[in-house]
Amino acid sequence: MAKLPRRKCANKECRQWFNPVRDTQTVCGYECASAVGKEQTRKAREDAQRKESAKQRAAWRQRKAAVKPLKHWIDLTQRAVNDICREKELAEGRGCISCGTKTAFAWHAGHYRTTAAAGHLRFTRFNIHLQCDVCNVHKSGNIEAYRASLVERYGEEPVLALENNNTPHRWTVEELKEIRFTALADLRALKKQEAA
Ligand SMILES: [Zn+2]
Ligand SMILES: [Zn+2]
Repeated sequence: MAKLPRRKCANKECRQWFNPVRDTQTVCGYECASAVGKEQTRKAREDAQRKESAKQRAAWRQRKAAVKPLKHWIDLTQRAVNDICREKELAEGRGCISCGTKTAFAWHAGHYRTTAAAGHLRFTRFNIHLQCDVCNVHKSGNIEAYRASLVERYGEEPVLALENNNTPHRWTVEELKEIRFTALADLRALKKQEAA
C-alpha cells in the first residue's frame, strides 16, 4: 500500500502534521480523536437545544395568535357599541351623563360599571352613556353623579338591576360579530336620520 501523504490533525487545539495510517484518519492520535468526538457531541447537543427552543418559541407564538382574535373582536365590537351610544345621545342633544355639560373637549362613551369589573356588561347600552372627557378620564367616570343621573332618567329599578347583574359571560366571536353588526347598522340608521 502506498504511503499516504502527511496531513494536519483535525483537532483545532492540535493542528500537528501527522502520517495517516488509514485514508479516513483525520486526527493524529487517540487523544485528538477523543477531543474531536467530544466537540462533535457538544455541538450536536447545542443544535438540539437550539431547535427545541425554536420549537417552543413557535408554539408560544401560535398560542398567542390563537388568543388574539377574541380580543381583536372585543375591541372592534366595543368601538362600534361605544360609537352608537355616544352618537345617539349627541344626536338627542344630551350632555354628559355625570356633570351635565354640553360642551366638552372630547366626547366619550362612559361605562357605568367598568369593562374591567363587569365585562359581561361591556356591550349593554344601558350601561353606556355620553360622557365628557373630564368625567370619563379625569374623574374615573364620576360615578356617583352618573348614578344620580341614571336614576333620574330611568328610575331606580333598572339601575339596581344593572348593579345586581353579576352573571359573568364569556364572549364568543360569533356573538361579538352579531353585536357589532347591530351597532353598526344602528349607527348607519342614525346618520341617515341626521342627514334627512
Ligand atoms: Zn492531533
Ligand atoms: Zn362630565
